[in-house]
Amino acid sequence: MAIWQCTECGYEKEARCKPRKCPQCEAKGTFSKSEDSSSANKSDKCDTGCEQ
Ligand SMILES: [Zn+2]
Repeated sequence: MAIWQCTECGYEKEARCKPRKCPQCEAKGTFSKSEDSSSANKSDKCDTGCEQ
């Protein structure tokens, strides 16, 4: 999985896919990939079809 960070408020969320909406500041589409938490498991692809 990857860690996503809201560029508006700094909220961090761990998820496979980019979060659509920030639960903290409720901004939409503000998440950017922060880092990979599992670099040893690159094959863990998103199963919902979205690109990272
Ligand atoms: Zn936010």
